Amino acid sequence: MFRDKVAIVTGAASGIGKEISRALATRGAVVVLTDFNAETLAAAAAEIGGGCESHLLDVTDAGAVEVLVRSVAEKHGRIDFMFNNAGVALFGNTRDTSLEDWNWLIDVNIRGVVHGVMAAYPIMQKQGSGHIVNTASVAGLIPVPGNTAYAMTKHAVVGLSESLRSEARRYGVKVSAVCPGIIETPLVQTAKLVNIDREEAMSQAKLKLASPVDLAEAVMRGLERDKGRIVFTPIAHLAWRIYRLSPSIFDRVLDLLNKRNPMLPR
Ligand code: NAD
Repeated sequence: MFRDKVAIVTGAASGIGKEISRALATRGAVVVLTDFNAETLAAAAAEIGGGCESHLLDVTDAGAVEVLVRSVAEKHGRIDFMFNNAGVALFGNTRDTSLEDWNWLIDVNIRGVVHGVMAAYPIMQKQGSGHIVNTASVAGLIPVPGNTAYAMTKHAVVGLSESLRSEARRYGVKVSAVCPGIIETPLVQTAKLVNIDREEAMSQAKLKLASPVDLAEAVMRGLERDKGRIVFTPIAHLAWRIYRLSPSIFDRVLDLLNKRNPMLPR
């Protein structure tokens, strides 16, 4: 399924993108790692090895994404997978966030994905094949107080992925959304916290972090089965199931949890 396939991964220098790149390379794919952090990108490419390519790319730059995707398609004659994975996160009381915070999240998490889709989809349509894989989050499936702006961006990514999945099928193009729970990546430490003490919040949150390696394996299995939503971690699955069963019960549970939510200062 992945051998000799051409895959572009954004945000590939770290965390989930790096492990997805490694899982693809291990399976014999030609992987093009991209990221806007030159230092971590070079380190990730060296670590994965196996003839993977790396290119500096800021996903907020529509023109640069278009050029990169076109140049990969020209060089390799095709694009089989486009992983729109780069993302940033923010926690806090919405009252304390600024418009710059919202625009930052929209630019990277929504526009970044749109740029990747708009660059790769026409090429895949012409080929009559290809798979677009957008990293959303379980926060794109359920409400997450204290994480509202981020949750909005991830709901947008799920909406884009599911609508396009149905639209793209007739052209032989597949679309999936990856919806992870909390994964042990640098994002957990680098997420912007507004009006929150990081140390205190982390110790109160007592997060159970899942491995990005296990997530990458789940993504590979999900793609093999052409799943539209790849939801990962049992807790993420449970939360999504309860929310689907009864949004009002879920809302009441959130009310209880909000009293001690370290990401939601009063
Ligand atoms: P990470 O910080 O380890 O990796 C994100 C990568 O994206 C970094 O290498 C960073 O340099 C890159 N990046 C950020 N802005 C960029 C830009 N404008 N252009 C190009 N690259 C950019 O984080 P991660 O946890 O691996 O996150 C990957 C994706 O998974 C994100 O979309 C995130 O929202 C999503 N996600 C993460 C978790 C989690 O718990 N870690 C849970 C659900 C969803």
